[in-house]
Amino acid sequence: MPTKYIFVTGGVTSSLGKGIVCASLGRLLEARGLRVTIQKFDPYINVDPGTMNPYEHGEVYVTDDGAETDLDLGHYERFLGISTTQANNVTTGRVYLEVITKERAGAYLGKTVQVVPHIIDQIKSWMLKLGETEEYDVILTEIGGTVGDIEGQPYLEAIRQLRYELGPSNITIVHLTLVPYLEAAGEVKTKPTQHSVKTMLSFGLQPDVLVCRTDRPLDQDVRRKLALFCNVEPGAVVASRDAESIYEVPLLLAEEGLDRIVIERMRIEEEHELQESDMSEWIDFLRKLKEPSGSVRVALVGKYVAHQDAYKSISESFILAGAAHGTHVDVKYVLSDDITADNVEEMLGDVSGILVAPGFGERGIEGKLEAVRFARETDIPFLGICLGMQCAVIEFARNVCGWSDAHSTEFDPETSQPVIDLMEEQKRIADMGGTMRLGAYDCYLMEGSLARKIYGTEDVRERHRHRYELNNVLRYKLLENGMSFTGINTARDLVEIVELTDKRWFVGVQFHPEYRSVVGKPHPLFSSFLEAAVDFAREKDQISKPRPRKTEKKLQLASVKV
Ligand code: GLN
Repeated sequence: MPTKYIFVTGGVTSSLGKGIVCASLGRLLEARGLRVTIQKFDPYINVDPGTMNPYEHGEVYVTDDGAETDLDLGHYERFLGISTTQANNVTTGRVYLEVITKERAGAYLGKTVQVVPHIIDQIKSWMLKLGETEEYDVILTEIGGTVGDIEGQPYLEAIRQLRYELGPSNITIVHLTLVPYLEAAGEVKTKPTQHSVKTMLSFGLQPDVLVCRTDRPLDQDVRRKLALFCNVEPGAVVASRDAESIYEVPLLLAEEGLDRIVIERMRIEEEHELQESDMSEWIDFLRKLKEPSGSVRVALVGKYVAHQDAYKSISESFILAGAAHGTHVDVKYVLSDDITADNVEEMLGDVSGILVAPGFGERGIEGKLEAVRFARETDIPFLGICLGMQCAVIEFARNVCGWSDAHSTEFDPETSQPVIDLMEEQKRIADMGGTMRLGAYDCYLMEGSLARKIYGTEDVRERHRHRYELNNVLRYKLLENGMSFTGINTARDLVEIVELTDKRWFVGVQFHPEYRSVVGKPHPLFSSFLEAAVDFAREKDQISKPRPRKTEKKLQLASVKV
């Protein structure tokens, strides 16, 4: 069977949850036994989001192969349990870079290089690239932005051409749109959707399925009206109701029959032996998520806390670990800039675990160091990720070893104790984009360490995104003073994990465990950290009952048949 392609576009406004709809539909197709992946095409000019401030575009998600990508790839991986690659995220900047590089190399043989055909051809070839591996039955492609955006036009034209070339039965266009309820009129409005579909039509694209984001059930009249005016089959108008949790969306869309609609439209059943949808594990996970037996509060100390997406994978990792444990994790976001030696107790005294977040640049560092000190001195479970681990080392050097000006050379190039320093190869790098230590690297876990116990294995591979490393020149002095190095990249003799073994749970990791949490398979470091926080809370009597739920929201799940 040829690979089938589903393109998901968005209309009316941004933030309708296109990424979640893609991930949900992908998960439902996977539950039928299909091999699925998801890719995202983003219209911005940055070659990748790696150089963007998290306030611009949320977290940068890193894949095994070291691509710095859009955070939606994190949803795809968490929902589907797949591993994505550079090929799963393309931006306009990357497309132009490729075309211009080819032009400079003379690849276009003297032709005038233009948007049509050269840019469009490049986009098309990348839209099909994963399909050519023959590893997938279905490829979903999310188009970033909203139809009608000037910069999105080449992508719509590429889809139009592909539909013509591959034939309509191999491509389904799903359009996600907003169906608002107007309080004053007392009814839902279909006009924004009609306009959005007209814009699609002006680019030669007829949506096959409408997914309507709404805060209430869509009645049959509204569905019929949308179908008639937007030229789609009445059965292909699907509601995407607001949900309390993104993890409910696959089941809500299954109730609406979204997977069945695309399977029937592309006649996938004719060429595939499809299994009954099996979402039982997902339902189990969701039950636990929605009915926790207790709640524990942990602090996430970082400098981008004002932006809800800046630490997406970390907050989702807490949700996934919490569900598996049956505990709601109440994450207290603490701006590191605000923490001082005088107020740290007030700011962090009510939490049972402290996570110091990854980051770049000097702002907020002293506050992070105070948070580490507080965790170490009061023996609150501590997890430092990347910069958070580096802060744990700096704090230890200053306050335990007594090296008062110890620092990372990222923040103080003149420090007499550069406990965190640039790797030799990084010193020669001038370009900022895509030049960090990126992607998955091996890590050996020392026998007898907490890390080995947590993972239950000797060798792991974890994803990285950083320039600086624990300085091997000072490593043995830190060791003499009591810091343990329990995870090592043996190929390059780099410290990947530090522990303070006299503490109940004090771990710093140079890599990013948050990128490898999956629904039903939370990352062991997050699970273990959470367990330690729960134990700590029990001891301190801080464990609380979860907030009472509104009964009508309580386990809507019961009615879900998939
Ligand atoms: N700024 C630090 C470095 O480059 C940490 C990076 C991070 O936390 N992702 O090494």
